[in-house]
Amino acid sequence: MKKFVGIIENQQRHWVGDGFPVRSLFSYHGDTEAISPFLLFDYAGPWNFDPKQGQPRGVGQHPHRGFETVTIVYDGEVSHRDSTGSGGTIGAGDVQWMTAGSGILHEEYHSPGYSKTGGPFRMVQLWVNLPAKDKGTPPAYQALTAAMIPTVTFDGGKARIIAGTFADTRGPARTFTPVNLWDVRLNAEADTVLPLPAGHTSLIAVLSGHVTIGPRAAGEGVGEGEIARLSTNGEGVHIRANGDAMLLVLTGEPIDEPVVGHGPFVMNTEAEIHEAILDFNAGRFGQMAPA
Ligand code: MN
Repeated sequence: MKKFVGIIENQQRHWVGDGFPVRSLFSYHGDTEAISPFLLFDYAGPWNFDPKQGQPRGVGQHPHRGFETVTIVYDGEVSHRDSTGSGGTIGAGDVQWMTAGSGILHEEYHSPGYSKTGGPFRMVQLWVNLPAKDKGTPPAYQALTAAMIPTVTFDGGKARIIAGTFADTRGPARTFTPVNLWDVRLNAEADTVLPLPAGHTSLIAVLSGHVTIGPRAAGEGVGEGEIARLSTNGEGVHIRANGDAMLLVLTGEPIDEPVVGHGPFVMNTEAEIHEAILDFNAGRFGQMAPA
């Protein structure tokens, strides 16, 4: 069984553009080995936006290189457009899995429809690293709609499998290294073992509710906005819910390579960061079609 290692948290909120009130629960500025292959976990909301006329709130054109961004929407709607010509609007239950790879430009806004009505807003953006050999992969985009994401029910709750495998159910995301990403809902008083694989970095983010992780005699409590870091060793984790709980479970095979990040670029060396900045300034990240 996996052991509880510690809590990762950050109560400080900042705004990404004017659309995303974010807590960066972890980022590549911290202990990158502890979170590998993940780089960043931005928890936006829960928030309530007032209706807005005109230009929706969000963040305009910006680059990424060297990793993947995964956007999971719980409430509200996000519209995205990028320099590959891809884009679309995702709402509750949908996921965008964008491979920045060699370089992409994109913009992320509230959808025009959601912007006009306002209302509850909650999403997660996760950055997943690419191994050095795949950092130059062409940019790509997977739109994973709610209908494509299978649900597994188990005693005490259910899990939507976005990536990886839970029991015999496989999620739709194509990943470069082994990754599990599960949207898990536990019923009040659930007492269960989630089948996390041995050898994976294992993180359980509590988005609402409160859970206890570990053996009954010596469990550790984890509350809203906190991430429990578990041991890489061991298989499965014992978890109990103290009321209904919503979790985002992430596991992945660690990528044992240096991480050098600078804003929207995450590479393996300072020289590669310098190159990314030069390439971006020279317009070598492609071009977005006019709005
Ligand atoms: Mn972005």
